[in-house]
Order: sequence, then structure tokens, then C-alpha cells
Amino acid sequence: MHSLNRQEIIDWLKNENSRELDDLFFAADATRRKHVGDEVHLRGLVEISSYCRSACTYCGLHAGNKKAIRYRMNSEQILKCAIQAERLGYGSVVLQSGEDPQFDMKSMEQLIRSIKRETTCAITLSLGERSPEEWARWRDAGADRYLLRFETSDPFLFEAIHPDALRNIPSRVDQLPVLRQLGYQVGSGVMIGFPGQTFETLADDLLLFQDLDLDMIGVGPFLIHPETAFGTGWVPREIDPTNQVESSVDMACKVIALARLLRPDAHIPSTTALATLGGVDGRIRGLKSGANVIMPNLTPTDLRGDYAIYPGKNVSFETAQVCRMELFDMLKSIGRVPGKGPGHRKRSQAPTNPSFTPKT
Ligand code: SAH
Repeated sequence: MHSLNRQEIIDWLKNENSRELDDLFFAADATRRKHVGDEVHLRGLVEISSYCRSACTYCGLHAGNKKAIRYRMNSEQILKCAIQAERLGYGSVVLQSGEDPQFDMKSMEQLIRSIKRETTCAITLSLGERSPEEWARWRDAGADRYLLRFETSDPFLFEAIHPDALRNIPSRVDQLPVLRQLGYQVGSGVMIGFPGQTFETLADDLLLFQDLDLDMIGVGPFLIHPETAFGTGWVPREIDPTNQVESSVDMACKVIALARLLRPDAHIPSTTALATLGGVDGRIRGLKSGANVIMPNLTPTDLRGDYAIYPGKNVSFETAQVCRMELFDMLKSIGRVPGKGPGHRKRSQAPTNPSFTPKT
């Protein structure tokens, strides 16, 4: 038994031998069962605004995209979605948006308080980079978790794909401890396979998940949006085709599996991006490779298509009720059960070194 070191992680990311990869997925699935069980936690996702002040080169909602359709839900609409989340038996609601200053410190605080008053849902926020004062106030108002993907641990790449990093604020990696200190359960993660991402940087991202002791780890394939810098063919650095991570279901599942082995008791979603690329099968493969969370979409159906961070997202315009039925059937078919209650991370005092001996 020994821990996964950087080179072993790189070897797994490059491995294309399906029998060996089955061993990896099997080991990750067993680790998932042992540390977090068969429950799949359901977090109702409400995409509360498509306005964004940022200029990220990967995201269809970046401020410069004149073709993006912008909407902002009001507090009443959002509260209705949270009540629906509770009725559907989802223990959490995730409020996600572009970086929209209109949801300011006070309005978010009031919204969080009203959701906490009217429901028993845990609240996850995913509102991008906001000030420590805002984060503190929202935490005091009752927000439980914060998702802020660091997107890549390579500082050069991060500044290139996230030009706002040049605003004099700490990198996302450095902002995560602030959230942790405020008492949030902290989630982060990366996109898989954007141009310029190498096997080495992705291995470093995985090791950082371990070092940061994240409560939640969200990873999904990169999907190119035509109205972004990436969509026009821009690349952050010269691409070496032999060392470019591909955006695929297989690669996403490898990263999920490695994340599970490195952080046995974290919450890891089988993401919407994975389901967009691989359909229901993609979602199931994520769940069988170490994932234990799904974020069903509760955004009103007439707005969903406009939260277009990448194309093809939210392809399902089924009502929340229909989605829930399909989801529960799917979970049953793979021997998993819907999680009950808020589904907070329980730290299992798991060893930080995975007990998995790679066969390669
Ligand atoms: N404004 C918030 C929420 C952004 S959307 C924030 O910046 O944190 C949530 C995540 O979707 C992002 O962190 C990013 O990792 C992912 N994402 C954005 N554009 C994407 C794309 N084109 N393909 C795949 N994932 C993407």
C-alpha cells in the first residue's frame, strides 16, 4: 500500500488501458462506499442570475458577450424554488450566478434569512469572487457552504483564462482559506481539458484538492462556447498535443476517481457538464467512479436556457417533478439511494493517503 504520488497521478491520467482503468474506477467506488456510503445527496440548483462582471475566457456569461441573454430572478422567485427543493426532498439548495453585484451584501443576506426561515434546506452559495465582508455577512445569515472552483492551480494559466485575476485580489486558491475560516464548508474544483491544461497541471490540481482538505470537489469536462476567447481559437499558451488533457467522459471519470482516492470523505458531484457531454450514461459513470452528489436543476424552465455557461447545458426542460422521478429511478437502477437531510460532510478522519496500490 502506498499513497498516490504526482507521477502516479500523471500515469493514471495518461492511461488508456481499459482493464487497468476499470481497476481504478472500482477502487474509487469501493472507497466511496466505505467512507460516504450509498447515499447520493441531491442539491437543488437555482441559477439566480446570468449577469456577470467578469471576463473569464471559458464562460459564455462573461461580461463582454453581447449575445448572452441576461436575467435576474427576484427574491420571491428564488424563495419559491427553495421551497420546491424542500418539497422534492432535496436537503440543500445551491444558489449560483455570474458575478452579479446587484445581489449585494444586504439583498443576499435577506434572501438567505428568508430561505432559512421558510425551509430546512442547507444553503450553498456559488456567486463567484465576493468580498470577505459579504462572505462573512452571508455566513452569519445562515449560508452553510460556498463553491468557488480555482479552475487551475497553475498561476500563469489562471491569470490567462481569468483576466480579472489581474485586479489586485488574491487568487482563488488564496481565497478559499478565508471561506474556511468563516465556517463555510468549502468546495472547489477545476474544468477538465481546456486548451493549455497539461497532465502535470491537472495532477497538481488533484494534489491541491488533497492539501486544501476540501469538503466538496467539483470537476467536469470543459465544453467550448463559441462566444468566448476559447471559442475564437485563442489559446493561453502553445499547445503540445502530446501533453494536452482531453475533454472527455473518460478523462472526467478518471479525475473523479483520483479525487475520491485522494479525499475519501469529500462530497463529489457527478456534474451537469459530465451529463451534458455523456448523457445519462455519463452521469451514471461519474456516480460509479467515486461521485456521491447530484445537483438537479430547479431554475424555472423559461430561464434555464439563458444560463448558458457552455452550449448544450440544461438541455432538459423537464419540470423539476419529472426530473426527480427520473433521477430516483436511475439511482435505484444502480443500487444507490437518495440522501436524506442536508447532507453535510462528515469528516471520517480518513487517512489523507489513499490505500490504493496502482497496478501500472
Ligand atoms: N460565477 C461563479 C459560478 C460560475 S459557473 C464562479 O465564477 O464561481 C460554475 C463553474 O462552471 C465554473 O467555476 C467553471 O468551472 C464551470 N464552467 C464555466 N464555463 C465552463 C465551460 N465552458 N465548460 C465547462 N465548465 C465551465
